[in-house]
Amino acid sequence: MPATRALLILTATAISVNAQVSTKWPQHSTDRPQPPVVTPGPFAAVAPPSDAVVLFDGRSLANWVSVEHPGEPAKWRVANGYAEVVAKTGAIESKQAFGDVQLHIEWRAPTPATGESQERGNSGVFLMGRYEVQVLDSYHNITYPDGQAGAIYGQFPPLVNASRPPGEWQTYDIVFHRPRFDATDKVTRPARMTVLHNGLLVQDNVELSGPTAHEERPPYAKHADALPLMLQDHGDPVRFRNIWVRKLE
Ligand code: MG
Repeated sequence: MPATRALLILTATAISVNAQVSTKWPQHSTDRPQPPVVTPGPFAAVAPPSDAVVLFDGRSLANWVSVEHPGEPAKWRVANGYAEVVAKTGAIESKQAFGDVQLHIEWRAPTPATGESQERGNSGVFLMGRYEVQVLDSYHNITYPDGQAGAIYGQFPPLVNASRPPGEWQTYDIVFHRPRFDATDKVTRPARMTVLHNGLLVQDNVELSGPTAHEERPPYAKHADALPLMLQDHGDPVRFRNIWVRKLE
């Protein structure tokens, strides 16, 4: 075959292999090497651009609803420009539904830090309510790498641990492409994600194996082209602010 075609195939193969879930380590393996710790630069605010849909501007959760009690308002605490998880009130989700997006979100782990591993500053940003970018206080807090801050939960550890200390604001900038399904409900293109944590690349266009889950990697199940963004109540008073998305479709 022509050299250019061979090169194209080689490149495509290299990219897809690089982006898939590792079969070398069992899910949630603690033997897996910890991502290197990198200290990010100082916090820099990223105000929403003109084409953004602002989901939380620090004043109210009017654009959000309770997940467990459909139709009811989000019950998290809003104060001083942030929304804070109120334990046992459940996850919240955006009223608006999204498919492919660029998402900016800021979060802050509780201080003083309490608990260890998954019990320290746990929450999560769920694209389409199904695909979680883990939120966790991973500053001097060891857990399984595919469950730390910046991980695609249970699938991909972050490339580096870019965590700031608890009590400091942190940013996620996420590019998400939803999965595509054919007429027979088969996946024709898996979901893909790129994530920057405090400005550092932690997920490089990875290909998700399906929805994220604890102790399992469920297969894709056909869903709508647009679904709400969800934030997790894992029992810890994690705070969020400055949440906006740009639709990419
Ligand atoms: Mg979580």
